[in-house]
Amino acid sequence: MNMTCDQFRDLLIDHVEGELIVDVQELFEFHRTRCPNCGAYLESYHYTIRITRKLPGPPLPAEVEARLRESLRPHLGGGD
Ligand SMILES: [Zn+2]
Repeated sequence: MNMTCDQFRDLLIDHVEGELIVDVQELFEFHRTRCPNCGAYLESYHYTIRITRKLPGPPLPAEVEARLRESLRPHLGGGD
């Protein structure tokens, strides 16, 4: 069974939260290793999560967050 890119993106948040069941996680990893687009997408997503969560003190300034979203936009929607 294969996972589509749409499914991959739908599961992304659950994956990051560690909430995927093992079977789904395996499909997810399989797709990630086979699909360069989704691999890159996941990487940038992880990166964003890391810097937004690890920053001490108050939440990200809106301006910084907007810039992050902007940098991720090419990966969102479209493509396959
Ligand atoms: Zn994909």
